[in-house]
Amino acid sequence: MPSTADTDSRVLYETPAAAVARLVLNRAESRNAQDTHLLYDLNDAFDRAAADDAVRVIILAANGPHFSSGHDLRETGHLENWKAHRRVGTYCGMSCGGAEPTLTREKELFQGLCERWAAIPKPTIAAVQGKCISGGLMLVWPCDLVVAADDAQFQDNTLEMGVGGVEYFAHPYELGARKAKELLFTSDWLSAAEAMRLGMVNHVVPRAELESATLKLAERIAKKSPMALKLAKEAVNGALNAQGRKIAMDNAFHLHQLAHSHNMQVHGMPVDPAFFQPGPLKKP
Ligand code: ZN
Repeated sequence: MPSTADTDSRVLYETPAAAVARLVLNRAESRNAQDTHLLYDLNDAFDRAAADDAVRVIILAANGPHFSSGHDLRETGHLENWKAHRRVGTYCGMSCGGAEPTLTREKELFQGLCERWAAIPKPTIAAVQGKCISGGLMLVWPCDLVVAADDAQFQDNTLEMGVGGVEYFAHPYELGARKAKELLFTSDWLSAAEAMRLGMVNHVVPRAELESATLKLAERIAKKSPMALKLAKEAVNGALNAQGRKIAMDNAFHLHQLAHSHNMQVHGMPVDPAFFQPGPLKKP
């Protein structure tokens, strides 16, 4: 199966069938934790698939037992990593003081990339297995369709970090307002079956069939008119934006930044250190 020749990449680029590209998170040893390197590699892969007119459908998958453990909280040297890997965006302020570096980094790396991926003018399908935690949701939600293995579980545990939800705050749109609040307030796991019932997931399939079922769906869609697919996607996304989606998510993003700033003032770090301690607020 062809894949990218970039052996340093944390995302594999595969072409498993005609007109289908599959981007595979390839950091299984850390449960596909998202550091700066991985996110820009994924962005490059999305750009490559988007620009290739031979590709009509893009699958986002992950190697290993779990889709993604979220943002890599062990990553240090954000400014240096930013300089090393940053390839898009026009923001400034990473070397400034106060709240600006975190705002700048998260606006581009988290919210900015998610919005770019959500706007790719061809269908995208996420294939999710195992655990998908917090930042993991931010890879799944920008995709158009979601196929989940029956062992998939979803969680936003940012409340336990003293923050009110992940940076790409699509919870109300993905789950409905009431379930979104419960997910956030409790940090409980959402099963694949429940996620499908709520409309966040299109199909649940046995774990062993995740790859084949997702590819089969992609191949069916790839036979449709690329232009019509592009317009259908634009129309549905436009409906969400007409309801104020982007403004609401910007509001939540800036509340998220307020939480980081608050935690810096109270705890000297952007998240509540209790998250890392043993006890009821421990890291799952
Ligand atoms: Zn954040």
